[in-house]
Amino acid sequence: MKLTMLGTGNALVTKCYNTCFILNDNNEYLLVDGGGGNQILSQLEQAKISCGDLHNIFVTHKHIDHILGIVWVIRIILQNHKNEGEYYVYGHKEVIEILENMCRTLIREKETKLIGTVLKFITIENNEEIDLIGHRFRFFDIHSDKAAQFGFTIDNEIVCCGDEPYNDTIKDFVKNAKWLMHEAFCLDSEADLFNPYEKKHSTVKDACKKAQENNIKNLILYHTEDKNIKNRKELYTAEGRQYFSGNIYIPDDLESIDLI
Ligand SMILES: [Zn+2]
Repeated sequence: MKLTMLGTGNALVTKCYNTCFILNDNNEYLLVDGGGGNQILSQLEQAKISCGDLHNIFVTHKHIDHILGIVWVIRIILQNHKNEGEYYVYGHKEVIEILENMCRTLIREKETKLIGTVLKFITIENNEEIDLIGHRFRFFDIHSDKAAQFGFTIDNEIVCCGDEPYNDTIKDFVKNAKWLMHEAFCLDSEADLFNPYEKKHSTVKDACKKAQENNIKNLILYHTEDKNIKNRKELYTAEGRQYFSGNIYIPDDLESIDLI
């Protein structure tokens, strides 16, 4: 399975795009989150992925740096639709209600009349399992106290915690994972500058310590600040190595990683 990061930044970044990504395998694509707007179209174009390929979309939570780009993708899917089969948008109840309402309100009727036939909104429950892109996904509530948010596991090997720090309520999903996708707002050495804890985010050090405790093999960190993108990979990797003995990945926007 291949992971392509469309964006790697937090909500307010301007030097990279908001965190969202594509998983693809068996010639099928899953888009996870959409970032905050129209720039998703540019990110997809640069990644050489067409909106028409995105038959599966999953949205973790309602925050605008995750959900608004999806409205653009849905608009393009419905606008360009010919006969490429059905499209599915998955999320928990709150996400689906907001997204469907936004789409029906903001997109032309010519397109929205295809909702329910060409494009289907699917509400998923905590702990629900669904087969997507040839793999078994299990969605779980990360128990956020900001906005309801779901993460997921893939084949019990790959885990995505969304954009909030690991907490012990999700230990059973995370423990011993081959791959963990986790947020890291900034370096621990720069926590005074970026105040990650005020925003319920964590540092590279925090994320790496949790990964070490949970016996993770490969750790992917994202949803970061963007004040030093040029050296982010090197600086974050160097801090993380002090606390985590597995492999650390600090992807740039548009970077791909083979999750093998
Ligand atoms: Zn976010």
